[in-house]
Amino acid sequence: MPDRTQMSRTHPSRKPCLTAVLRMAGLRPTRQRVALAELLFGGPHRHVSAEQLHSEASVSRVNVSLATIYNTLHQFHEAGLLREVAVDASRSYFDTDTSDHHHFYVEDEQRMIDIPATDVAFQALPEAPDGMVVTHVDVVVRVRKAHS
Ligand SMILES: [Zn+2]
Repeated sequence: MPDRTQMSRTHPSRKPCLTAVLRMAGLRPTRQRVALAELLFGGPHRHVSAEQLHSEASVSRVNVSLATIYNTLHQFHEAGLLREVAVDASRSYFDTDTSDHHHFYVEDEQRMIDIPATDVAFQALPEAPDGMVVTHVDVVVRVRKAHS
């Protein structure tokens, strides 16, 4: 796992930028939100669960409860900064890449791998129910290590 504390120390200029991103998304840039945004958006695109982000926050000495992490992730999701990918009833991942794409879910590692949108094709999709529109289609392909 990359040392995010180190990263934010070497890139102090990211902070004003993330503050602006939060403001543009309609969220007040509180200290906690900015700190969590740094952890989430400070590197390449990734998929993170609330529990993972919580432990990263502890390592980076960002003192927030798991409940605050959940709330913040859902606020970021509602503001369009994150995409939520639910793999089952009890587990969701938050994707910093909000563009259209699909996922492999590696069951034994609890890890998501991106699948480009163009790699998945549908022969038929049902019409949305009356008065509704399709927002997007998520495909999660579940995989595990092949044992020979
Ligand atoms: Zn993804």
